[in-house]
Amino acid sequence: MKLAVLTSGGDSAGMSAVVRAVVKAGILSGCETWIVREGYEGLVRGNTDTQIPPTIEEPFADPAARQRVRSGKATNLVENLRFGDGDLLRDGTGDHARGRTLKGRYIVRAGWDDVRGWFAEGGTLIGTARSKTFRTPAGRLAAAYNLIKEGIDALVVCGGDGSLTGADLFRSEWPSFVTTLHSEGKITDEQLSKHGHLRIVGLVGSIDNDMSLTDLTIGAPTALHRICEAIDNINSTAASHSRAFVLEVMGRHCGWLALLAGVSAGADFIFIPERPPQTDSWEDEMCDAIQMHREVGKRKTLVIVAEGAHDSNLKPIRADYVRDVLTERLGLDSRVTTLGHIQRGGRPCAYDRILPTLQGIEAVKAVLEATPDTPSYMIGVSENKITRVPLMEAVAMTRAVADAIAAKDFAKAMSLRDPEFLQSLDGFMTTSLLYKEKMLSEEKRMRVAIMHIGAPAGGMNAATRAAVRYCIKQGHTPLAVHNGFKGLLDDAIHELSWLGVDGWTSRGGSELGTNRTLPSVDLGAVAARFQQHNFHALMLIGGFEAFNALLILENGRSLYPAFHIPMVHLPATISNNVPMTEFSLGSDTSLNALVDACDAIKQSASASRNRVFVVETQGGQCGYIATMGALATGASLVYTPEQGMDLDMLRADVKFLKIRYGLDAKGKSEGRLVIRNECASKVYTTSMLTDMFRVEGGGLFDSRYASLGHILQGGVPTPMDRARAARLSLRCMAFLEEHHQSLLAQPLKSRCAPPESAAVITIQRSALKWVPVTEMVKHADMKNRRGKEVWWESVKVWVEALSGRSELV
Ligand code: ATP
Repeated sequence: MKLAVLTSGGDSAGMSAVVRAVVKAGILSGCETWIVREGYEGLVRGNTDTQIPPTIEEPFADPAARQRVRSGKATNLVENLRFGDGDLLRDGTGDHARGRTLKGRYIVRAGWDDVRGWFAEGGTLIGTARSKTFRTPAGRLAAAYNLIKEGIDALVVCGGDGSLTGADLFRSEWPSFVTTLHSEGKITDEQLSKHGHLRIVGLVGSIDNDMSLTDLTIGAPTALHRICEAIDNINSTAASHSRAFVLEVMGRHCGWLALLAGVSAGADFIFIPERPPQTDSWEDEMCDAIQMHREVGKRKTLVIVAEGAHDSNLKPIRADYVRDVLTERLGLDSRVTTLGHIQRGGRPCAYDRILPTLQGIEAVKAVLEATPDTPSYMIGVSENKITRVPLMEAVAMTRAVADAIAAKDFAKAMSLRDPEFLQSLDGFMTTSLLYKEKMLSEEKRMRVAIMHIGAPAGGMNAATRAAVRYCIKQGHTPLAVHNGFKGLLDDAIHELSWLGVDGWTSRGGSELGTNRTLPSVDLGAVAARFQQHNFHALMLIGGFEAFNALLILENGRSLYPAFHIPMVHLPATISNNVPMTEFSLGSDTSLNALVDACDAIKQSASASRNRVFVVETQGGQCGYIATMGALATGASLVYTPEQGMDLDMLRADVKFLKIRYGLDAKGKSEGRLVIRNECASKVYTTSMLTDMFRVEGGGLFDSRYASLGHILQGGVPTPMDRARAARLSLRCMAFLEEHHQSLLAQPLKSRCAPPESAAVITIQRSALKWVPVTEMVKHADMKNRRGKEVWWESVKVWVEALSGRSELV
């Protein structure tokens, strides 16, 4: 099959990663892969300069292979490795490939190495456009002709809802186009019978996250990164001058960016299209909220306005007007910042490398399986699983949101968003606004102890902030226990305030202090402290130690009545090794730290042309970070504790590297990454591995190592970790409240908390699930400090497939 990929509509980070994944997965599936430059416009223009042969300097010994390459029909990996030399479209103008002009050629053949390193590039390297001509039947007829001329019968389109609608329409009209072209004598009988059906699959590249039936669109996480980076920068100047900033972010019909930025960066007020202010006098509502924040001592104000924001009568709410209101009514020194295209640009974050890679692979599978009777599919992600959904259903649902907003049916617009959107909005209200009245009556209020355990992880502070603000809203007393159980025994406990935790969303590390001491250090003394400080509930934020600590406390209930209170564990660890949860706080931050470090290392490795860099990661006995990091950085090999290392494996790996470097085009060898988890093997250490590669590499490649160590704990937590922290933390608080209230029904002296009141909050396929710690222990590998089952095991297979290892050895 000849398979082409194009990017269309507004660009987004991760589009180039889609192209890379489609080209590589296509080649691995035996397809001939093509790229269409400049979106549908390229399809319409096609190749006018057909005289240019593929003039690659081809040292194939086998004449048949040489012929296949020359005729553009190379299909196996080795031929495709030789075919691509990594220069396609790389000169910045997109006009040259391998030294020959591409002018007049919009549909070009792409080999394996042409897309080398593309996952790290922002925007789309193959160009995108908004094509008016493609909107016309004549334009689409020309596009059909151009595809048939090159023998292409499958198309992967990455773009927004407009692009996907265009794709579906094109496919539905295809049979009539083929008949017309045949009757006009433009295509042969053979072409007529061969191209009766066009296979199409869509991927959603859109920074707004505005497509229904998928949790995330490609590019949205990176745009959120850019916004939060900007806010973190603005915050320091806002606080210095005690200013108000009104930030306009993208999102015409979708408030996802504004909402998530509001939660992640701790805004004072947000305006989104789906949920306009409830009253006509929203100016009063906003000013009251901000005035209250100022009265408790807040020095800075942040209001986020989605570009499509409006009031309940659909009158647009503009950033400039919001600024004027703040200046005139509150006397604040107010400024507007419009982020504009800054949001689109830059290097993709880790998730915008992983998601397009996995989705690109799925797109190729879907296109191969497509028949005239199957609908055009859109590749989405739902509940941490890559999905296929009927493309037009997703488009129709997306449009329904815009229609509901236009009809002022905002309840419907909200109902068409996923539940996480609604939870995030509730979370924003709870954590950002200061409420005058306490929600709960005196007897229902709790003294909640909050403790960090184990190593620091991004999002610990954001989770604490959310918990504190929830407590204050409800009337509970939030108590910080500093330095874990050690601090508890030293009475390092103090009450946290609404303002005191204000800037904590963006702070890395642990503001409370954390260590690995377990309550078993002196369980009786721990119980005495619980009693002395009259804790009604406990929240532990941490990794495997926190889980262990909760287990010890639950077991301790048989001895100490003080432990008969609700207790929760919110997993936060860069290793992501807490059983039964797919994500821990901090793992996204860590993955991004790894991607940043590896991008820099890879650059250095590439500069020396032939260097293999062995990068050692943390993660203890859990290979999550190493494996997902390898997928996000395009590492050639990955070593994990789950799989271990042995001689046969190493022999095959050396053989692979030798073949791979041997196949690199002359003078075009590149640096390659190998990622090794620190505990992958006691014998085959990182330095031993590096030495082995150096010796075995001979003249072909050299080797160095880098240990990332504590860099992986990350600096500033990522928006994903911050938003997740707030969402999970609020659920923890609601859980504690609920169990506390049922315990209140029992006499104080003989209160007996049920086992399920000591639980861990887990993410299982995107749903939040409570697992009693007594149940969780059955799923834990206590010796290796990790879960017995892992969801990411298959990712390693793809790391090796996309590096070519599985094919070459
Ligand atoms: P974004 O989310 O960035 O706006 P989009 O894919 O929705 O991306 P559009 O400008 O709507 O962006 O569409 C991109 C291109 O897709 C158009 O320029 C046009 O060539 C094609 N297209 C869109 N809608 C249709 C349609 N109904 N019929 C044919 N082609 C279409």
